[in-house]
Amino acid sequence: MPAKEVACRRALTKLGVSYSEHKPIAEAAGCAIAHPLEIERLSAKIALQPKATLNCAMALTLARFFTDTTPPLTRRHLKQPITAVRHASAYVCRSRAGTRKLSEHAYGNAFDIMSFTLADGTELDVAKKPNPKSGSARFLDAFRTAACGPFKTVLGPGANADHANHFHLDLAQRRNDSLYCK
Ligand SMILES: [Zn+2]
Repeated sequence: MPAKEVACRRALTKLGVSYSEHKPIAEAAGCAIAHPLEIERLSAKIALQPKATLNCAMALTLARFFTDTTPPLTRRHLKQPITAVRHASAYVCRSRAGTRKLSEHAYGNAFDIMSFTLADGTELDVAKKPNPKSGSARFLDAFRTAACGPFKTVLGPGANADHANHFHLDLAQRRNDSLYCK
């Protein structure tokens, strides 16, 4: 296994991520992950539902984001922590909607968040539009804004019909490291 992958796993362990190795993925369509992981928890405190197949770089970016960036936002806007993240897709062998180009999901490099479970059991759905002045709305906005940077692509409700009910986050490489957040 390349040194980069080994270092990435060490960093995951340090963050309290619970994961297991998944056999290499290489499908005829071109979908592939050389060293995939199955992620069960993003940290000791945050579960992932269901477990997600991702490449290590994506798993690490998610784990760091939920460990370092998200807690101040939840404290401020929700007054309680997130205990679970529910997702719709991680690795999926598919092309981008309306194109023949493979999606970042096809490389385990993308993650679609449907909802956040809060400590009191509340399910905060990305699709629902809370009152814009509510803490929930402020949190969803703040989360989306903060994600643009650590993640190279951030799409969600309002971006287009395909993203009306979830936040799509990915690590797509673009020229000049440019970001695409909409
Ligand atoms: Zn997606």
